[in-house]
Amino acid sequence: MDLVVKRPKGTQDITPSEVYKWHTVEKIVSETAEMFGFKEIRMPTFEDTGLFVRSVGDTTDVVQKEMYSVTAKGDAQFTLRPEGTAGAIRAMIENGVLNDGFPQKVYYVISCFRHEKPQSGRLREFHQFGCELVGTASPAADADLIALAKNVIDRAGLNNIELHINSIGCPKCRAEYHAALKEYFADRKQLLCDTCLDRLERNPMRILDCKSALCSELSKNAPIILDYLCDDCKEHFEKLKATLGDMGIEYKVDPRIVRGLDYYTRTVFEFITTDIGAQGTVCGGGRYDGLIETLSGQSVPALGFGMGLERLILTMEKQGCEFLKPDSCDIFIAALDDAAVSKTVKLVMELRDMGIQADYDIVGRGLKAQMKYANKIGAKFCMVLGSNELESGKAALKNMADGSEKEVALHGFAQSFSDILCSHMLNVEGLI
Ligand code: ATP
Ligand code: MG
Repeated sequence: MDLVVKRPKGTQDITPSEVYKWHTVEKIVSETAEMFGFKEIRMPTFEDTGLFVRSVGDTTDVVQKEMYSVTAKGDAQFTLRPEGTAGAIRAMIENGVLNDGFPQKVYYVISCFRHEKPQSGRLREFHQFGCELVGTASPAADADLIALAKNVIDRAGLNNIELHINSIGCPKCRAEYHAALKEYFADRKQLLCDTCLDRLERNPMRILDCKSALCSELSKNAPIILDYLCDDCKEHFEKLKATLGDMGIEYKVDPRIVRGLDYYTRTVFEFITTDIGAQGTVCGGGRYDGLIETLSGQSVPALGFGMGLERLILTMEKQGCEFLKPDSCDIFIAALDDAAVSKTVKLVMELRDMGIQADYDIVGRGLKAQMKYANKIGAKFCMVLGSNELESGKAALKNMADGSEKEVALHGFAQSFSDILCSHMLNVEGLI
């Protein structure tokens, strides 16, 4: 069928035949988060534009180039959330969650919106699983959060995905580092893109995260932050590495990671794979000890990460990881005439009340077409009802996998079918 209006560029439809992959990762991420003591938080899809400008930072690509903003009636400026941290932290402060003792641990599974050039693993509407851990400055928290992300990756069955970590220091040690970066890039000013020229003055570390080929080439020989860390930041990083070692989590120290958003301090990390092309960062996160003060005036250390679910699924597909198979129809009851339809409807309702996936014809098709449909939807069992069956009170229950038939009584059928289905499933799983 042709369409007059099509899907916006950079968005994706998830069809019923593909949605089980999303159900699989949504189950993995929420169960893992709960296992680590995180509780779900839900926030609005759009926020005041000022929230993102303040928290994500006005020297970032996200704020400078990628936000979907509207001016609503009455001059209010709103933006579709480009990420989850700002909204989650705002919601925690606004609802008094942070008055309830520390640490506070929340997670969310949300859609995010960024006006980017669409390509594989880079969309304009994408989905993130995010976690925020608020109220602890200890490196133990950094390690525990990284362990959570790693656990998701392991439970998804992924291999060939590396954890890269870095420390980008605190405002104290970063001042000296910024000065060194400014000096380095000032000599190469004429080669920087326009955005980075502006960053050179306001936030030179952002240059290291620029996607332009020339800027990233220039960044290769730039001074690295690890050489400028103050003693406290150094100690924090050493303790993190030691704890990751205790946890048996492998990592690479990668001084090139500065992360895309302005609010990070100290630990930053990414999980990177080479299996899905250029957009290989499946998860990115870090510590943002300054963010809550920016939003509320009160200094509270915190950290978090965002995991791109499209990239997670893409990597799982590439690596042949298993997704939970959707349940197919347990029984299809075909009816031959009006009297049989009436009995069929009653039986189907009874079966559904018992939590059994039962289906029947709602199109008005003949027997052959009904059976074809039962096959198509993968019904495990099938039963045909006509005047003979109604008269005798018995029908043939067909196992669609092997074609075998078994006579069943229509009286008390729902209960006896429930037992049959139960032993069938145990049999399929090889348990009996
Ligand atoms: P990138 O360097 O790939 O642009 P980023 O630094 O902008 O990533 P974050 O803001 O840290 O990304 O978002 C966390 C995660 O969300 C990323 O690691 C990635 O998995 C996912 N992500 C970010 N932008 C997109 C997008 N446009 N499409 C799909 N996934 C995305
Ligand atoms: Mg980006």
